[in-house]
Amino acid sequence: MAQKYISKKCHQCMAYMKLEDDKCQSCGAKVGPVNDFGIGKKHTNYWSYISAVIAIAGCGYYIWWAFFTP
Ligand SMILES: [Zn+2]
Repeated sequence: MAQKYISKKCHQCMAYMKLEDDKCQSCGAKVGPVNDFGIGKKHTNYWSYISAVIAIAGCGYYIWWAFFTP
């Protein structure tokens, strides 16, 4: 049986907010629909993945440049 919530919690600061809100009033984080635990789901931030991949690739390039080029 699915529980009904009248409010949800911010995944970042655990402040209560309205179910229809998509942004936390307290910390400004984007909050998705409520999950089974009464906490708003975290939006996937694709830019953080992309920047992480770029950073790892840049680090690998530096190692190649520093140690494997004559
Ligand atoms: Zn918050």
